[in-house]
Amino acid sequence: MLGFPIPYPEELLYSTIARAGVHDGETSPKQLLDKVFNNRSVIATVDLPSHIERLASQYRDSLGLDLRVLISRHTLWPIYSPFLPRERIRKLNRWMSGTSQGAAHLASGIAASRVKAKTNLYVCDECLKEQKSKYGECFWNRLWQVPLVKVCPLHGPLYTTNIDLDGEHRHSHIPVESSRILEPLKIESADRVFANQVVELFQVQNEGISFSQWTEFYRRLASNLGLLRGRRIDHAKIHEVVLEFWGKLWLAEAGILPSDTETSWLRGLFRKHRKSFSFSEHIVVLSALSNGTFGIRNAIAEASSMMISRKKTSVRGQEPVNANELSRDQIEWERLLEQSHPKEARQHSPALYARLYRNHRDWLMQINSANHAENKSVNKRVDWPQRDRQTAKELRCIFEKLSKDLYVPHLSKTFLIHQLKHRATVEKNLYRLPRCSALLSLYSESTDEYQARRLTRAYLMTKEKGLEIKRWSLLREAGLSDERMTDTVSALLRNILSEKTHSQI
Ligand SMILES: [Zn+2]
Repeated sequence: MLGFPIPYPEELLYSTIARAGVHDGETSPKQLLDKVFNNRSVIATVDLPSHIERLASQYRDSLGLDLRVLISRHTLWPIYSPFLPRERIRKLNRWMSGTSQGAAHLASGIAASRVKAKTNLYVCDECLKEQKSKYGECFWNRLWQVPLVKVCPLHGPLYTTNIDLDGEHRHSHIPVESSRILEPLKIESADRVFANQVVELFQVQNEGISFSQWTEFYRRLASNLGLLRGRRIDHAKIHEVVLEFWGKLWLAEAGILPSDTETSWLRGLFRKHRKSFSFSEHIVVLSALSNGTFGIRNAIAEASSMMISRKKTSVRGQEPVNANELSRDQIEWERLLEQSHPKEARQHSPALYARLYRNHRDWLMQINSANHAENKSVNKRVDWPQRDRQTAKELRCIFEKLSKDLYVPHLSKTFLIHQLKHRATVEKNLYRLPRCSALLSLYSESTDEYQARRLTRAYLMTKEKGLEIKRWSLLREAGLSDERMTDTVSALLRNILSEKTHSQI
């Protein structure tokens, strides 16, 4: 199709296809499918569409809109990918790039998850106005369609539209302009916390964290937060904190109110993971236990850096750690490849290589060739001063971007390092990288600074909305409490509140 439109930031591919129809004056949905996909039976899918390779081929290479970019920035893929084992993500990616429709949903486990996809399309009225004045047309933003998201973090409640996805519109890509905007959703402050976490999730690009890594992450989290009784997880306490933070009603409406029983999903999250948990379950637990201070993005960064203990490896390491997951040997090989070439890895662990060759030959060949290509240009004898300069430059760029955004998570040293391309190398060799160490100290936020930022953010948001500035609502919005607040931040809060009184007089 000539002149296929370029997706706007955060626009769903569903929406780009709809706009293609409008630009082309194509009124028949079937003909539009024919023009775009050369296939009339494609189902118009909002969350995880397939046939994306076909869309990617519509763009010139110089635009950089390849399959990967389209999947990660213009579909709901990022809310699922960090929570699925790698093997299933690979399957999902294959499905999204090319073939079957329903299978993509099946592959991601969404069909079986407790959180159901939205059945109608939603909009933020204010965002639509902004889009119209900025671009001259409107589009469907992906945040609006995320299950359980009810609010636009910038403006307010989302509005239901008359576009019902299961019924008559199955094969049509409907432009926003053709929808009718119905009533706004009822929201509460928990909805804002949730929506902000989904925004964070959209910024993460992570392809799979194993069940063992998530298991280890939550074990450590419980221990760090003192949620243990003796050496056991204090499930009752966790249950109480989660219900207190979100409210029973909110959780019930979301369909994830944890039961009191042994088999509740909440208990399962703190035990050995045998299946995936949904993004909403992770968000609910992390926000509640940290009182909104530990974001999903930090959690993903930490979980993906968890090393899996090998103590329990039994017979030859061939059994998978969990169903749908890589075997211990495969995990070990992946870890070796993070640091060395396939050839070096083979010399280092010939027995491991031999076992993999026997049991997972196709997989081995595939991963080796992928790593071979990636590492070709890497000089194995690292020029540290050069690496230091390059990384410092990268760090400056990253910080420049992050510092403009009041909503980024705590800018700790670890968090900053995790944004870097060679994060593992940097972490291990920081003593060889003096410029980077200095910049990290300069850029990382102290607790004081981080709390102050959250308070400022809450203050600005309240003001922008024209709401009355109240102490309790500021604290709640900022995820602060009297016990946690540092002295400096208490002083800042007093200032804000006294300023408010003055301006009212
Ligand atoms: Zn909005």
